[in-house]
Amino acid sequence: MGELFLVPTPIGNLGDITHRAVAKLKHVDMILAEDTRTSRKLLNHYHITTAMRAFHMNNEHRKFQEICSKLTSGMQIALISDAGTPGISDPGFLLVREALSLNIKVTCLPGPTAMIPALVQSGLPSDRFVFEGFLPTKKGRNKRLEELSDENRTLIFYESPHKLLKTLNQFCDIFGPDRAVSISRELSKMFEETFRGTINHALNHFKAHPPRGEFVICVDGYKKK
Ligand code: SAM
Repeated sequence: MGELFLVPTPIGNLGDITHRAVAKLKHVDMILAEDTRTSRKLLNHYHITTAMRAFHMNNEHRKFQEICSKLTSGMQIALISDAGTPGISDPGFLLVREALSLNIKVTCLPGPTAMIPALVQSGLPSDRFVFEGFLPTKKGRNKRLEELSDENRTLIFYESPHKLLKTLNQFCDIFGPDRAVSISRELSKMFEETFRGTINHALNHFKAHPPRGEFVICVDGYKKK
């Protein structure tokens, strides 16, 4: 029986990969990558020559059983995504579930993910938190936020630059303008920055400085007045 490894890769700075992750990517029989062109840069940087195949949200439903038969026949396979930890707002879950149902060993290496540095440097409580990932793209956004409005743990969201203002406006309506937020962009990259303030301040800030790059939003939990 083979083994499936989930291997976290940098979220920006190419230096943010562990020695163990590089060794594992060199050693496995095959790497499954979300976008092989994106991952090629990382693999070239670390002189990793392992064969790579595409595994992404558009083919994972078709591919996961075929991959499990390769694992059952003894192959060691690593799954990586474009950035961060596979399975965290990225493909991985279906393959992990299927592999486990076939008694295939599954191991996720510890490593980069965007939510943890954003949370830890936010200054908001990091002892208990809720990771919400991306809000639904169209319908169901308000409902999701209303369900979270009296959640007292810190909330973490992923957001794209073109939806940031819309999301902050919805936060303002549902969580109120005075709730504290911390918004980190471009973590580990050249233009990394973190805005900390209230939702209202954040709205004014990002109206004046149009959002660019990748964002993690941390929102303070609900506090009884
Ligand atoms: N698997 C990744 C992880 O472990 O964090 C998340 C992948 S998800 C498709 C991409 C989202 O993660 C971005 O839209 C952004 O919200 C967040 N993200 C990824 N890299 C980031 C970075 N360097 N700075 C801020 N946010 C980032």
